[in-house]
Amino acid sequence: MNLNRTLLTTALLTALAVTPVFAAKGGNGNGAGDGTGICTTCTTGTVDAKEAATLTFMREEEKLARDFYRAANELWPTALFVNIAAAEQQHMDAIARMLTKYRLPDPVATDIPGHFVDQTLQQFYDQLTARARTSQIEALQAGGLIEEVDIEDNQNAIDATDNLDLKVVYGNLLRGSRNHLRALVREIERQGGEYTAQHLDQATVDVIVDSPMERGGRGDGTGTGGRGDGTGTGGRGDGTGIGGRGGRN
Ligand code: ZN
Ligand code: ZN
Repeated sequence: MNLNRTLLTTALLTALAVTPVFAAKGGNGNGAGDGTGICTTCTTGTVDAKEAATLTFMREEEKLARDFYRAANELWPTALFVNIAAAEQQHMDAIARMLTKYRLPDPVATDIPGHFVDQTLQQFYDQLTARARTSQIEALQAGGLIEEVDIEDNQNAIDATDNLDLKVVYGNLLRGSRNHLRALVREIERQGGEYTAQHLDQATVDVIVDSPMERGGRGDGTGTGGRGDGTGTGGRGDGTGIGGRGGRN
């Protein structure tokens, strides 16, 4: 697939769709949410088996990201890992709301750090944490790989569903992942390292990294103020856009 073009298209659509309401620090949600925090007129219907499987997988993939950044922070404490881990928790929560909405079982019903039902994710997590133990910069690089995989998987999930609510949720996660990749690469470069694409093609990574942080939505874990100092002066990026902290379904 032409990931490059779809990413750009998605970025453009996201930019157009997002309400420019944002608060970097302690932003309070103002979404009029319907439980998905998206819209009240969407026709959501049901999910088919493939959509259900994707939701289930993405719930654990976001857990992998959260657990990884928490583990990385234990090894190499930095506000960047703390902030991204908090954003990943929000990504997990967003998927959990969809699982609830569509009455699907939660693979993270028992939330054991570093433990996954999906064995592919288990192996991936084990490799990532082993890598993170070697140095802080390797932990940052491993985070970059997580984000590249998340970007591809969220884009594929968007393309594979006709449910608007799911497209919006995956779109928010996708934007968060792009921001996380930007923040990680900035920090790697600030420490004198270089970042080379690990999963996506280099051109796609370049387009993302060379474009500014995207605002809107929850869970970007970035906020304003830039990541360049590696301390995350921008707060937790829980500003609002579409969605906010809408009501529950
Ligand atoms: Zn995420
Ligand atoms: Zn992420």
